[in-house]
Amino acid sequence: MEEKTDIKSLTLEELKSCFKEQGIQGFRAKQIFQWLHEKLADSFEDMTNLSRELRCRLAEDYEMITLRIADVKVSGIDGTRKYLFRLPDGHVIESVLMKYKHGNSVCVSSQAGCRMGCRFCASTLDGLARNLRPSEILEQVYEIQKDTKERVSNVVIMGSGEPFDNYDNVVRFIRLLSHEKGLNISQRNITVSTCGIVPGIEKLAEEGLSVTLALSLHAPNDEIRKTLMPVARRYALADVLKACDTYFQKTGRRLTFEYSLVKGVNDNLSEAAALAALIKHHRAHVNLIPVNPIKERDYIQSDDRAIEVFKHYLEQQGINVTVRREMGRDIGGACGQLRKRYMEKGGMTDGSICTD
Ligand code: SAH
Repeated sequence: MEEKTDIKSLTLEELKSCFKEQGIQGFRAKQIFQWLHEKLADSFEDMTNLSRELRCRLAEDYEMITLRIADVKVSGIDGTRKYLFRLPDGHVIESVLMKYKHGNSVCVSSQAGCRMGCRFCASTLDGLARNLRPSEILEQVYEIQKDTKERVSNVVIMGSGEPFDNYDNVVRFIRLLSHEKGLNISQRNITVSTCGIVPGIEKLAEEGLSVTLALSLHAPNDEIRKTLMPVARRYALADVLKACDTYFQKTGRRLTFEYSLVKGVNDNLSEAAALAALIKHHRAHVNLIPVNPIKERDYIQSDDRAIEVFKHYLEQQGINVTVRREMGRDIGGACGQLRKRYMEKGGMTDGSICTD
């Protein structure tokens, strides 16, 4: 059987040319694109201004990817909601909704699992299951907006997975998410976070997008970085930062550096000094994230005092810095932990199909 086309992953131009080939009137493409990406229709049946005949025809030729909510945990502290979604083939992924004064922000996964192997991260413990399609990344935002009935204004690609290990689908996702006939989320309100894949950063700089790039730095030198992030063995910090410079020059967008503070590993004053020296000329924003301990590793969070001293030092050096306390601390811990626990309970194991 021929595989059906994943209609939610198509751009408006692609949809137009598919319809042209099929002899479907051109104006239908825009109409259907809006049903999919603006009105967030769940099925072709919902597209009430199309004839029954056309709806049936679409259902025959196209696949409509939707995600099912497998679980939601709501924080009693700050209203953060952690969603566990089931993909059409049974894999599960995590997304998080965070409520801020300036609007609702959704953190999406770009892959089921991850193969980057960062030592402190739960998403990578079982490796990569598979890449997500553009429709599956979009659906995380769409389903959350439908569930809360509140507009999503910011999206961060900081859930499970390395966006540049699934480059084409992530870029397509960004274009669809920011499309004026879709949710029309401003590219300035979209952040892509990478562990530092140099060719990915360089390529994104050429896309003509105006998204924010966040780099997971986590160390002031290659030596410490290699102990935390295997990717540091592939790309030297100097090259990663050079690519970040290029990104800034091409897009005019200031970068964010993420730095997870791990007690006794990267959190002392000499490391703060080395970090300041390394990034001073970048005029980037630094997010300090007290590491969220996972049971499979023995990394522990820096003390509050150490975090304060580290932050203060960077500020004295004129660096813009915030400490990002984990939101929804009462519901499911660090990135990827909810999914991991769910899989351990037998909800799903990688590579198999869920049968419940
Ligand atoms: N692969 C991308 C995006 C995923 S993770 C990247 O590496 O940037 C988003 C951020 O959370 C990254 O900075 C990641 O290093 C960090 N992170 C993952 N697990 C963490 C944990 N247990 N504690 C603190 N930060 C963590």
